[in-house]
Amino acid sequence: MNYIVLDLEWNQASDSKTKEENQLIFEIIEIGAVKLNEEKKQIASFHELIKPQVFHRMHQITGELIHLKMEQLENCRTFKEVVKDFLEWCGEDYVFCTWGNLDLLELQRNMDYYEMKPLSDRPLKYYDVQKLFSIAYEDKKSRRTLEYAIDYLEIEKDIAFHRADSDAYYTAKVLERFYHPAIFHNYSFDTYRLPKTRADEVHVVFDDYEKYISRAFPDKLTAMDDKEVVSTRCFICGANTKKKIPWFSMNGKHYYAVVTCEKHGLLKGKIRMRKSIDDNIYVVKTMKQVTEETVQELISRKEQSRENRKDKRKKTK
Ligand SMILES: [Zn+2]
Repeated sequence: MNYIVLDLEWNQASDSKTKEENQLIFEIIEIGAVKLNEEKKQIASFHELIKPQVFHRMHQITGELIHLKMEQLENCRTFKEVVKDFLEWCGEDYVFCTWGNLDLLELQRNMDYYEMKPLSDRPLKYYDVQKLFSIAYEDKKSRRTLEYAIDYLEIEKDIAFHRADSDAYYTAKVLERFYHPAIFHNYSFDTYRLPKTRADEVHVVFDDYEKYISRAFPDKLTAMDDKEVVSTRCFICGANTKKKIPWFSMNGKHYYAVVTCEKHGLLKGKIRMRKSIDDNIYVVKTMKQVTEETVQELISRKEQSRENRKDKRKKTK
């Protein structure tokens, strides 16, 4: 399997009238990619500018950032032509790798706009190299700029940042440096397309937690009524668990539960309510083993939030 390290640059409306007139928010104007083989050696690259069809003026910030002028794009090929060739260049057996989680979203949005065949009919597995960098070198939660990572790894900065070809090249450089193979267990899912049916839903077990991505629901209540969404089976042995703290929410967006598996002890579930591109609700649930201390912390946060709500009610009366 090859790694396709992808970077896109996009333009946007430069005034509110143009913005209102168009359903596309970001128009892709450049594709850069580097292909790495199984051993993570660079074997090919792809780079092409794209002729704009939606926004014909360069947004000021975009222009300053990527140093591109409209005149440079006018004689280029259209998005459809370039992407068709790009996907052919990708080949059959590959996984996308991007810095952050935006490029695949915008690529699919632009492909939809031109009514192209979808990249995938379900959540798309990929590597977020920005996230992998944090897992490999920092605290798993931080999200750094690409230039920060390049400086951190003392990689030579021989070309300017913020162009699709150079950013793809630098992202590939970061990817090459992950020496621990286990880092590649941490793939992500792009949820531009959600699972259509219950059978298509995503269940993955990572090194120390389980992730579940649901299909779409019309609203939160319907989602919380679904037995798979609220299921708290043990992700290690599959056994049913005993509820210690049933699902509750402090802000209506995140829900927590604590359960006990006879064999594997305390498990914490977290449900995040997310909005799909067509304004439905879907659920990302994680389950992981926790200590008694973490559970106590959660209980006191729950009580604190209940107190806060009581106070608020008193004040508004
Ligand atoms: Zn278990």
